[in-house]
Amino acid sequence: MELDDVETIAVLGAGNMGHGIAEVAALAGYTVTMRDIKEEFVQDGYGQIEWSLGKLAENDRISEEESEAALDRVTPLVDFETAVEDADVVIEAVPEKMDIKKDVYSELVEYVPDHTVLATNTSSLSITDLSEVTDRPERFCGMHFFNPPVRMELVEVISGEHTDEETLDLIEALAEDFDKTPVRVHRDSPGFIVNRVAVPLMNEVAWMVHDGEATIAEIDSTTKYDMGLPMGSFELADYVGIDVSFDVLEYVESVLGKAYEPCPLLREKVENEHLGQKSGKGFYDYEDGEGVEIPMEEGSEDIERRLVAMVANETAKLIGGDVADPAGIDEAVMLGLGWPEGPAKLADDYGLDELVAELDETHEEKDHPRYEAADYLREAADEGGFYGGEEEGGERFDYEVISVSVDGHVGHIEVDRPHRMNTITEGMLEELDDAFDELQDDELDVRAVLLTGAGDRAFSAGFDASTASVGSGIDAADTSRYGQQVFGKLEGIPMPVLAAIDGYCLGGGMELATCADMRIASEGSQFGQPEHNLGLIPGWGGTQRLRHIVGEGRAKEIIFTADNDYDPETMYDYGFVNEVVEVDEFEDRAWELARDLAAGPPIAQKFTKRAMLAGRDDTDAGLEVESSSFGHLFETDDVWEGLAAFQQDRDPEFEGK
Ligand code: NAD
Repeated sequence: MELDDVETIAVLGAGNMGHGIAEVAALAGYTVTMRDIKEEFVQDGYGQIEWSLGKLAENDRISEEESEAALDRVTPLVDFETAVEDADVVIEAVPEKMDIKKDVYSELVEYVPDHTVLATNTSSLSITDLSEVTDRPERFCGMHFFNPPVRMELVEVISGEHTDEETLDLIEALAEDFDKTPVRVHRDSPGFIVNRVAVPLMNEVAWMVHDGEATIAEIDSTTKYDMGLPMGSFELADYVGIDVSFDVLEYVESVLGKAYEPCPLLREKVENEHLGQKSGKGFYDYEDGEGVEIPMEEGSEDIERRLVAMVANETAKLIGGDVADPAGIDEAVMLGLGWPEGPAKLADDYGLDELVAELDETHEEKDHPRYEAADYLREAADEGGFYGGEEEGGERFDYEVISVSVDGHVGHIEVDRPHRMNTITEGMLEELDDAFDELQDDELDVRAVLLTGAGDRAFSAGFDASTASVGSGIDAADTSRYGQQVFGKLEGIPMPVLAAIDGYCLGGGMELATCADMRIASEGSQFGQPEHNLGLIPGWGGTQRLRHIVGEGRAKEIIFTADNDYDPETMYDYGFVNEVVEVDEFEDRAWELARDLAAGPPIAQKFTKRAMLAGRDDTDAGLEVESSSFGHLFETDDVWEGLAAFQQDRDPEFEGK
């Protein structure tokens, strides 16, 4: 069966996942039947779809008509036969109990047409075992959505032992048609990809606390602020429900052995019903305590090394066991867990040799199988990384926090601190300074520069405020002057510069983009100059350059409102962005445009740039005022207040002192 042949989808279960999957299918235009065992359950699920569609329309994500049409396509049913007799695909989301699921499948095969493909949304049960209860194990696979299906883009498509290729292709195509991103899981292995990375990590942090190696605060500070994961590990455990992770862990242990032995601390929490947010208490106390509180500065390199080593080992087991390839794992974890980069890339960047050494030492000390380095990890370390040390594009250069390469005539500079939203540090300014020189080397014959930010969350979210050395007005003015000089160098580079903006483009990040000759932005980007919120002013030329592009009125609006959520369409209307591009097409379009620019006449381009720059009014005077202002600003109370408010995530109270 091809995707074009699919018209009707039956969803079994109208609970948390079932109603969400039904909604997603209806939004994609399919006729949907949604079945549960009691009228009140189906009606409840239907009511939730209605509510969710209403929200999408309210937020202008879809029109009122689309919302109504989608709801009309869903039929809530209790009668099993009616629900599935016309279905082309059945997606099952009944409770995670083998017995219940087996009962459902044994009955289902009595009513369902011969051609129908069956998919289960199970989070952990064996796809192969489930498929064997049916009369069509080859047309049976896993289709694992994430919660909530309407918002989460990832779908793991899992092959059972008997699943045929056509079925996997169809379910992947269906996931894409649902506007989701499918990632293929080649083997029915417990936890698939995302849970298999997440749950052992959660176990390890619990073991570290249990063994007295680290505190909750140190671990959450490391995971959230040093590794840049969206939540602290214990914060996440509480959010997901400690019982949920514990159950998955026990299951993984039952199949894969003692390396997954749950930490007694997790068991204790489950036994005491301290399950996390939902029970009012877990690792943090939500009722009698302050809830989650994570200090910014308590992270440690030792913790980070251990955690990255554990993640690398799990990644190696998945690749070595033919469950998934590095790119699939990275994509799944970035989408499913919101990590700024995937585990294979994270581990490669860290250096696999060092991670293997960490595992070996810890194994020696603790003698627990969870520290046994996988054979494949050692192999990958010998080959230079999970990605085999392979490098995209042509020549590369040696930088720490930016990456610089040349591909044809395009010099590519990528701001590479995705875990810190690509924020700019003083060290990064020095690297940019060198890179702008390096790319002008005649031998390289670079004819256009493409500026991007690593990952998909930020082009650059500005200066890294946590590294700001408040207190010395002289240092601040000097940093300002140095930043002006570096950004000025970019503006004066003879070849065209294109900034490709995907995600946050704020403060210093927006100033960097302002130095480019052209800017394109993905639909997911967000702009602003929020410096006034900190009692500061835009630096590195930020008070000067923006007005040449958007006019003084708009420049003042952007700076004075200090809003950090200007959308790309508005910035297009203001003339800041030359083109807004769909997220999926963004990278290709950025490279296409950079190559077009590189194909232009280099000498004419150089003179046009030079003439336009020379024709501007006396910016130097403005720049001098800008940098000396930083000398004053860093001696005011308002800056202390602004930075403190930022770190404490509250509104600042300025006093003009
Ligand atoms: P849920 O308890 O919210 O919903 C399950 C629904 O199935 C209930 O409404 C129940 O009445 C119904 N049901 C029970 N027996 C049935 C039957 N014979 N026929 C039809 N419906 C029946 O559970 P959930 O969170 O939606 O999970 C469903 C499945 O999705 C499980 O396999 C789970 O592992 C998986 N899953 C859950 C999540 C999550 O975050 N909740 C994420 C991914 C996958």
